Amino acid sequence: MKKNLIGGNWVEGASATKNINPSDISDTIDEFAAADAAQVNQAIDAAAEAGKTWAHSTPQQRFDLLDKAGELILARRQELGTLLSREEGKVLAEGIGEATRAGHIFKFMAGEALRIEGEARASARPGIETYITREPVGVVGLITPWNFPIAIPAWKIAPALAHGNTVVVKPADLVPASTHAIAEILVEAGLPAGVLNLTMGPGRVVGEALVNSPKVKAISFTGSVGTGMSIAQKAVASGKKVQTEMGGKNPLIVLDDADLENAVNSALNGAFFSTGQRCTACSRLIVTAGIYDKFVARMKEKMAALKIGHALEAGIDIGPVVDQKQLDQDLKYIEIGQKESGSLVGGGLVERPTKGFFLAPALFTDTTNQMQINREEVFGPVASIIRVKDYEEALAVANDTEFGLSAGICTSSLKYATHFRRHSQAGMVMVNLSTAGVDYHVPFGGTKGSSYGSREQGRYAQEFYSTVKTAYSYAL
Ligand code: NDP
Repeated sequence: MKKNLIGGNWVEGASATKNINPSDISDTIDEFAAADAAQVNQAIDAAAEAGKTWAHSTPQQRFDLLDKAGELILARRQELGTLLSREEGKVLAEGIGEATRAGHIFKFMAGEALRIEGEARASARPGIETYITREPVGVVGLITPWNFPIAIPAWKIAPALAHGNTVVVKPADLVPASTHAIAEILVEAGLPAGVLNLTMGPGRVVGEALVNSPKVKAISFTGSVGTGMSIAQKAVASGKKVQTEMGGKNPLIVLDDADLENAVNSALNGAFFSTGQRCTACSRLIVTAGIYDKFVARMKEKMAALKIGHALEAGIDIGPVVDQKQLDQDLKYIEIGQKESGSLVGGGLVERPTKGFFLAPALFTDTTNQMQINREEVFGPVASIIRVKDYEEALAVANDTEFGLSAGICTSSLKYATHFRRHSQAGMVMVNLSTAGVDYHVPFGGTKGSSYGSREQGRYAQEFYSTVKTAYSYAL
């Protein structure tokens, strides 16, 4: 049984949740303590108490903790990546890649603790000096989803601590093991009691207790649009800072002059790798008429060669869907897409020696942007192709969505690449790259219905995890 971390103590939960391997449902990773609201409130109190000291810790103390945690994560990336792939189902190379990224995030944010900036400004009045400094926000509640079980907790925890906040983190109930491992590593790295608290358990209990507590001053959330917007409304109503990272319906435009192989690889990777369970996945492939037939033919060829199976098995390209609920959602959309477009490549359930949630990637051809399959986020290995006549139509279709997270274009034309960079309405724009796959030291986030609040990651994380103080000083 893995326990919660409250005020520096590992404690039993009010109940427990089993963590099951989606590649093999007979494999239970462990049982994880599930906190009740009273325990969440104890964790919040512990964080508030620890904040009295941590808010005044030196940049060096914060650097040492985060840098050491990053070091330990990188040293254990193989083991952490294996744990992640076992609990979430992405293939091992992706699991190790994600663990590595978490290590890099901690090390980058360690440096950010030393780079916290202020300003000195001449006052408008004589004899007065003004200083603008960044201060911690206080107790921060972090609510994370199941699709990046180590990277997303890392990119919320590390900047929160770097800026002198204390934390209560609640991982997705489906995948608590990776966040639990980060908490253990932080303790090993010298975490003072109460500075980070881990409360696992269901969102409607643990998440809601965090959102409802007046002692929590900021909530950072990643997950679905419905849950995100309801959290944002509650947080705003109680005067909390809030940041919600939600869905996408990301377009990848392929123009006639694109390098076909690069375009197909970008589409395959963006649409289907990580089982399509990425908010940055490209689910709308918008292809101009001159390259359309060649693109579709090559996509079919390469899709047929993809190996689907147990995430920890060598040579597998695509692991299982995360659970039965998500598989049902994927199958529902596959049925809808088939009815709407009359076309379907792949998309069937796959049997493997172990019982898991294996689904072949699904592709719809000849779809229109108005179809339900092109309006709503599926969050599985499901993509569709939209035929357009030229770049202008492609841009209009790409922007015709209520989301705005990531958008890509494959072209050898500098003119169109530049125009797209400037006119795409997404928060992240890719040229000759998949819509998924981002760096850890630059801002992450979207526009329109994809994101609410300030950006995550890189130095831009300071907007959320700190507040600004203006001091006036008059020398007598
Ligand atoms: P949710 O948005 O429900 O879950 C995200 C996080 O919020 C989890 O930690 C969850 O806890 C927690 N949570 C759930 N309900 C509440 C609540 N009332 N108050 C506070 N916290 C809460 O997403 P799901 O995991 O249910 O996935 C559903 C769909 O969301 C997916 O099919 C996909 O379309 C989308 N999604 C998008 C992601 C993205 O990165 N944009 C990531 C994951 C999902 P718990 O795990 O215990 O429910």
